[in-house]
Amino acid sequence: MKYEPVIGLEVHVELNTKSKMFCRCSADYFGKEPNTHTCPVCLGLPGALPYINEQAINDCIKIGLALGCTISEKSLFERKNYFYPDLPKGYQISQYRWPLCVGGKITLDSGEVIRINRAHQEEDTGKLTHKDGVTLIDFNRSGVPLVEIVTEPDFTNVEQIRDYAKKLQQLFRYLGVSNADMERGDMRLEANISVRPVGQKELPPYRVELKNINSFRFMVAAVEYEIKRQITAIEKGEKLSQETRGWDEDKKCTYLQRSKEEAHDYRYFPEPDLPELILEHKKIQQIKNSLPELPWIKSGRYKKELNIRVEDAVRVTESIGMSQFFENAVEHGKDHGINPQDIVNYIINKKPDIETVLPTQIIEEIKGKAIGVVGDVGELKKLAKQAIKDNPKAVEDYKKGKEAALQVLIGAIMRLSAGKAEVGKVKQILAKLLLEKDGDQYA
Ligand code: ADP
Ligand code: MG
Ligand code: ZN
Repeated sequence: MKYEPVIGLEVHVELNTKSKMFCRCSADYFGKEPNTHTCPVCLGLPGALPYINEQAINDCIKIGLALGCTISEKSLFERKNYFYPDLPKGYQISQYRWPLCVGGKITLDSGEVIRINRAHQEEDTGKLTHKDGVTLIDFNRSGVPLVEIVTEPDFTNVEQIRDYAKKLQQLFRYLGVSNADMERGDMRLEANISVRPVGQKELPPYRVELKNINSFRFMVAAVEYEIKRQITAIEKGEKLSQETRGWDEDKKCTYLQRSKEEAHDYRYFPEPDLPELILEHKKIQQIKNSLPELPWIKSGRYKKELNIRVEDAVRVTESIGMSQFFENAVEHGKDHGINPQDIVNYIINKKPDIETVLPTQIIEEIKGKAIGVVGDVGELKKLAKQAIKDNPKAVEDYKKGKEAALQVLIGAIMRLSAGKAEVGKVKQILAKLLLEKDGDQYA
């Protein structure tokens, strides 16, 4: 007998709002001193009352709209009760029966459609660190806005999972609602997996939930392992049961974390301290109008308008930055008789660093000819940043008061631009950049 996997995904994404979901604490907690972004609300102290973060709701609606969900004009927060040290209230405020966004779908590169069950708003928990036999707790993350996106069990292989997760990550970045960095834990995946005989329509009567997997690679490895494990078990006549498993990266296998008997009964009930969330149709419409062009729409448009291959269109729409770079190059290319497909080919083969290389430069290379003076402030700024990055010693000297060090940087910019940067402007731009406070503006 042949078996096929049935997989549903749950994706959690932390929103990059200024404040937390139900209090005014800063949600920007990464790398901050533990337990400094806290207040009675996110510490779960008795008598503290939550209030709803409007920006988080707007971001959740954006995600829902982009996924083609119906936005509920009336939704409700509920308490999901369980005991765990990272959850000071003893419950998480989440949504269950009346989520903000329902239905929806995402179309994969293969053309297959994954149905979205819902996207709802909730809050993150604190963070536990186990070290030298003690457990430390940091509540800075407690109450950070989280959106959970749940699919129908529509996946049948890992390629689909990878594509789906990448598409979601790309979407969050396009929408600007999250950095969606998996290593930092901005975005977390959980897979529900079962297997059934090919041809069977009903869902298997069990599912194994894979939890706490923090990279695309581990997720794929864990799912592949789990599919094999389940098929082998069924073939041996074993009965599989509902359970939660984790991924052991050293041993390259999944392991049991919690069985059905230990499953939580969350006793959901409406959060009595928050009102129903009522949204005006007008407001939903406004948010819809504010959405950027979505990556899959953009790539479709490039294919049609610029007459490039679809897989290439997907590549140059990976990020908004890349698509802007590409469009810029296409614009410049027009004046020089360079067509979009040549530009795409160049980008894919040469992989230019779009942070430092200028669109005009690649046109130049494609043409194999020299250009005139570079006088565009934006372009010069890029060159200046690169020169600063390449010459830390000169920067340090300049900051110590050595005016002459500026010449080193100007020289570097001239080299980077093959002698074409407008010197007068370069000096001004450099001086201004160097005045700015230390930080990632040079990165
Ligand atoms: P829970 O609250 O238990 O996590 P959810 O409704 O949030 O439940 O998520 C259930 C997930 O499991 C969904 O992604 C759904 O598609 C998936 N799922 C449900 N039944 C099965 C099954 N038999 N096999 C695999 N996945 C399933
Ligand atoms: Mg769930
Ligand atoms: Zn707080």
